[in-house]
Amino acid sequence: MHLKQKKKLKENPDMLVCDALLDQQIFSGVGNIIKNEVLYRIKVHPESTVENLPVKQLNALIKEARNYSFDFLVWKKAFVLKKHWLAHKQKICKRDGNSIVKKHLGKTNRRTFYCEVCQVKYV
Ligand SMILES: [Zn+2]
Repeated sequence: MHLKQKKKLKENPDMLVCDALLDQQIFSGVGNIIKNEVLYRIKVHPESTVENLPVKQLNALIKEARNYSFDFLVWKKAFVLKKHWLAHKQKICKRDGNSIVKKHLGKTNRRTFYCEVCQVKYV
């Protein structure tokens, strides 16, 4: 599973991570909210490219996408999904107090919420 995802990511070096997370061939079941939350949690800018992600962040991307997808379903069933949002539809970054930016990014052109200060852009 893990290796399969890594292989598929490596086959798409130019892909932006915000698009990669929404690619159902790579991360099946990951939707837009999960995309925003995972990137915030691993401190990676949505416009980073797959090939420039350090190994540590690449592994974290795969790991957190799986963890968050699991938590997401639990929280959804308990109607506490919004309570756990740190980036999605937020205005202020809880880590540094800077503004959360909202932009439509990537080929998928989906609404992306992120902090330009603590989410590092690997390009
Ligand atoms: Zn921040």
